[in-house]
Amino acid sequence: MPEQICAQCYTSVADQSTTCPGCGQKLFYTGNDKNVLDKLIPNCLIYRYEGSDMLEPALLVKACKTNAKVATNLREISHPITLSKDRVYSFDKSIFQSIQELRQQRTNIVQDFDQQIQTYWTKLTPYVF
Ligand SMILES: [Zn+2]
Repeated sequence: MPEQICAQCYTSVADQSTTCPGCGQKLFYTGNDKNVLDKLIPNCLIYRYEGSDMLEPALLVKACKTNAKVATNLREISHPITLSKDRVYSFDKSIFQSIQELRQQRTNIVQDFDQQIQTYWTKLTPYVF
């Protein structure tokens, strides 16, 4: 079931609910008055894990003095991740996709190399003492 949240108070909303259980506003699932969020639209890229080269698309929720609060999914909008502002980059779909593709290729190559090495390992015979 796709997750949905109220655009006003970020409370999780069950399918077909007519009012928000959090703030009580009338809910609209489609059209111009739509006030139920069903997907996160990222506007930045974040670098969360030290030592990795993984970027994640995220939505900036709040900017503080040195930190930024961001969400990588709908649920996190009400409980955002805090990270240093210098780890937040402008959203760039093509750079993000290129990095993702290269990371995937690297994973595939590493797996392939691991398999080849393993093949040689299985050919080893015990030393006869
Ligand atoms: Zn609400």
